[in-house]
Amino acid sequence: MFKDHPVLSFVYSTLVKRLKQCESPIQRAKLAHKEIDRYNQEVLDNEVVQKYMSCKKGCAACCHTQVSVTSDEAELLTDLYLKGEVDIDLKKLYLQSEARNDVSKWYNIPYDIRRCLFLDENNACKIYENRPAVCRTNMVLSDPKTCSTIDGKVHEQRLVNTHKADMIIMASYTVTKSAGTLPYMIWKALNKKKAKAGSPVEQPMDTVRKRVRKAKITVSKLLSM
Ligand code: SF4
Repeated sequence: MFKDHPVLSFVYSTLVKRLKQCESPIQRAKLAHKEIDRYNQEVLDNEVVQKYMSCKKGCAACCHTQVSVTSDEAELLTDLYLKGEVDIDLKKLYLQSEARNDVSKWYNIPYDIRRCLFLDENNACKIYENRPAVCRTNMVLSDPKTCSTIDGKVHEQRLVNTHKADMIIMASYTVTKSAGTLPYMIWKALNKKKAKAGSPVEQPMDTVRKRVRKAKITVSKLLSM
């Protein structure tokens, strides 16, 4: 793979090997995030990138787009929710997950409903330390106005070159079982946990049961509307 790019090839194959040695999906997601941050730092240390990068806290335009996650990342985020470490608006999760992996359905959803489940009222990410891989590498040099999808369209942008970090994402997608959009993957992971809630899992069971029950009640209410 990547015969013409020995460095990228090395980054990719090393990570595939390391990810395969991980004991759980959550461990795999965390390892991939750590490695992405390490390679991103090399890019962020570059003076030109520092001078021209448009991304800053509170912008959050890209947090209204359709974000992809691996099943490992969905597992990590669902686990945080079930442990009570982050809240999710379940009604919004349901509405967003209805778009499944269809990009045109996504951009038909009203802008406010498309707002990421993890964006707080100050436009800051509530799960910053655990945010998905694509949120870590999506950095732009172009005018931040081009990042807005308020008109339901994706516009052309000039992205920061994150080739090595992109190799980590590719390695994760190679090793993980499946991938898809953030809301749909969390919805699926939550339903999977729901089915397993009677059997011992690593989280404190009463918190898991309470959260699963809340999800069930909200979803039944929504379906009967
Ligand atoms: S996970 Fe965080 S960074 Fe990623 S889209 Fe959501 S709010 Fe934005």
